[in-house]
Amino acid sequence: MKGKVASTGYGIGEAVVVEKETLKADKEHCEDVNTCIDAFREAIEKSTEELRTIREKSTESLGEEHAAIFDAHIEMANDVEIKQQVESKIENDGVKAAYAFQEVTEQFIEMFENMEDDYFAARAADIKDIQQRVLGHLLDKPVKDLSLLDSASIIVARDLAPSDTAGLNIEHVRGFVTEAGGTTSHTAIIARALGIPALVGVEGALENVEEKDTLLLDAHEGELHVNPDEKTLADAKEKIRAQEAERERLKPFAKKKTETADGKAMPLYANIGTPKELIATNEHGAEGIGLFRTEFLFMDTASMPDEGTQLEAYKEVFDTIQPVIVRTLDIGGDKALPYLEMPEEANPFLGHRAVHLTLSEPELFNTQLRALLRAAKDQKELRIMFPMIATVEELKRAKESLARAESELEKEGKDYQRNVKVGIMIEIPAAALNARALGKHCDFFSIGTNDLIQYVYAADRMNEHVAYLYRPLDPVLLSLIKDVTDAAQETDTEIGVCGEMAGDFDAALILFGLGLDELSMSPARILPIREALSRLRLEQLSTLADDALKADGPEEVRRIVQAFKDKHLNT
Ligand code: PEP
Ligand code: MG
Repeated sequence: MKGKVASTGYGIGEAVVVEKETLKADKEHCEDVNTCIDAFREAIEKSTEELRTIREKSTESLGEEHAAIFDAHIEMANDVEIKQQVESKIENDGVKAAYAFQEVTEQFIEMFENMEDDYFAARAADIKDIQQRVLGHLLDKPVKDLSLLDSASIIVARDLAPSDTAGLNIEHVRGFVTEAGGTTSHTAIIARALGIPALVGVEGALENVEEKDTLLLDAHEGELHVNPDEKTLADAKEKIRAQEAERERLKPFAKKKTETADGKAMPLYANIGTPKELIATNEHGAEGIGLFRTEFLFMDTASMPDEGTQLEAYKEVFDTIQPVIVRTLDIGGDKALPYLEMPEEANPFLGHRAVHLTLSEPELFNTQLRALLRAAKDQKELRIMFPMIATVEELKRAKESLARAESELEKEGKDYQRNVKVGIMIEIPAAALNARALGKHCDFFSIGTNDLIQYVYAADRMNEHVAYLYRPLDPVLLSLIKDVTDAAQETDTEIGVCGEMAGDFDAALILFGLGLDELSMSPARILPIREALSRLRLEQLSTLADDALKADGPEEVRRIVQAFKDKHLNT
């Protein structure tokens, strides 16, 4: 089977198929009341045991605060009222445990769902989760917990939600395969963050893969082999050994700062979406976070995270690594929030999204800004970045919102970070063209090439039919980046790139040659680039960038970079 490479690498493992069918129990007669009650109690016990293990694992990988949700699940699973109602239903109605449990929990779910309050709506989802877990045991189809994997596995799913990957046992995951999703989907981003090979858009994966099949994932060529022959497997194992040897070779660079052979610092930062991804950042030696996409914290829950919840999540990141460029909510386009009314739009990517949206949702924006200011109170500074700024007016309005949050906290006597650096994403062509004016009103820029390229070429970044117009190495785009970089230097504005392009090895060399101050990428991309830069001089990179700007098209740029690597890096 073929798919799109979302995160490169080879992986071999047993298939773990995650099919999300909602379990339903039929009304069946219970022959013996005691046996049925015992079965129910045993299912609760098993579920509680599982929840305890998941709790433990997610404390390790995600931290105490994320794990606490499972305490609530354990409590709900053992709720005395539910237990009594189920057991009396078995006794009085003569039905089997699965049906009795389903009926009782369904009542609670309905009751919570009907409450207007967001908090209770979220509790309904929690009970549903528990219901499915317990039913899984009673119907002999246990829910698959990705935190409980204990051998080399490749996960096959239609798509994975953030909650599926929470507590994931990374140690045993050798790959992800999903039917859905583009290379910027949640699974893709998580896979890259964790350095796990992944293929997305693999049609028919669920149909053609059986649980425990041996899978060979070739996330270089974009191929998935099911039960491959000995020879193919042996070849792949050889490639995996080479991959591991390369990892070993690069390991010492994880502790170093990035600088050229002639001592010019070129910081390589990581992109993250949740505090969880900090594990990979550390392992790959990121020198900071160049893009913290906060929207994932908002997409991960059934209701709007309040100021306190946000504060905790931001603080966890700020306390672990510095510097951090944190981007305010970038929703809209392909990213919806279940609890925020967002009317359907004819052109969502040209619609009410990112800062255009938060500016018209002052409460939402204010809560986030307050949480950020408070969370960074013990740091040296706070770097806030606004996404999708199109005009100077928008930037001014965003800064006014920030000033409002600051003055509120001042009045309330709450402690907050006063040294705030304001930055913007340069991802709308108008902003790129107007960088000189924008630079006068902010401290830093970060070029979002994912969106900038889609808007420059008018080609949807999720649409495979126009994927050929994703042209990061086109001299047309490179010269636009060069103009923005020159404008930044003239206005004393720091400038980085945080789109996927920054993590492309060839592009990274050119970008530093163009004069960028920092690059931010998927953590797994950092070390090869750092190692290469340590062998190059600034002047060589500048010459490479000049040659690329003069080239005929992206193919010629690739050839120029290849010749450069052959000459200077021996690759
Ligand atoms: C970008 O557009 O390049 C970017 C980094 O933002 P996102 O991918 O989150 O839109
Ligand atoms: Mg963007």
